[in-house]
Amino acid sequence: MKIVCIGRNYEEHARELNNPKPEQPVFFLKPDTALLRNNQPFYIPAFSNEIHYEVELVYKINRLGKGIDEQFAHRYYSEVGIGIDFTARDLQRDCKAKGLPWECAKAFDSSAPVSMEFIPLTQLPNPKAITFRLEKNGLVVQQGSSADMIFSVDELVAHVSKFILFRMGDLLFTGTPAGVGPVASGDHLQAYIEDKLMLDFYVK
Ligand code: ZN
Repeated sequence: MKIVCIGRNYEEHARELNNPKPEQPVFFLKPDTALLRNNQPFYIPAFSNEIHYEVELVYKINRLGKGIDEQFAHRYYSEVGIGIDFTARDLQRDCKAKGLPWECAKAFDSSAPVSMEFIPLTQLPNPKAITFRLEKNGLVVQQGSSADMIFSVDELVAHVSKFILFRMGDLLFTGTPAGVGPVASGDHLQAYIEDKLMLDFYVK
């Protein structure tokens, strides 16, 4: 399986990183070794002094698809979970400044904790406006709604599948709302969809 991540999909977050509002979705990949499951602890890697959390809704692809038309994109996913796109912000800043790819800052091992559970979209009060939040040590640090995405999930699926074949089980991280920030050893992270606790782990 692969993990496809979207950058800059919420206006306020694009603004907080001084990025212009994109004309097309920005995407990048994380390998399967980035996946962290079962609420296992996240260990801060030695190569970074500035690991940031980015909480994101994660859609699970449920069938094979290439060149998917936007109007049919909703047939390619039926469940949503939540994940953290851990980012070595110091390395990313360096890569951006040099015009280099970001893999060292984004694709490292365990950089993608994902909830074990995925919720069928049909069970949510409003599948077009799914609210989610991240708490750090019991305080809300990020909150968002899928209604505020710059590009809808259907647009994202259509765009990415122009370039890359989606397979069953692939995960699509859909971008983070404003409020990204650093983690330190000992932090407790809890991510919710609506009011359901989905992801609950410690940083070490
Ligand atoms: Zn992200």
